[in-house]
Amino acid sequence: MSTEKYEFLAKFLNQVSSKKDSKHHIVPTSRGGNGNSENVVKINERLHELYHNLFLNRTPEEIIEFLVDYFWGGDEGFVFNFLEEKERSKYASSASK
Ligand SMILES: [Zn+2]
Repeated sequence: MSTEKYEFLAKFLNQVSSKKDSKHHIVPTSRGGNGNSENVVKINERLHELYHNLFLNRTPEEIIEFLVDYFWGGDEGFVFNFLEEKERSKYASSASK
């Protein structure tokens, strides 16, 4: 990501974020998640709210499924090929150094 884009993103996140943190359950308690440390992360309160506005109470696996459906019409192959290509180019560029 270019520095310019990163600065824009940082500025945006600063504007939307609040000063308080809140606890997020990776697997929501309403979906059987517990309060153990492996299932709980600290997240900025405002970003936490935005996260749930976007993804409701989906589990991480359901979020991936949702994104694949939403952006690629359920074509998982597209996502896997994209990720594989990214991996390949990462190793290709490090091999040439
Ligand atoms: Zn949460």
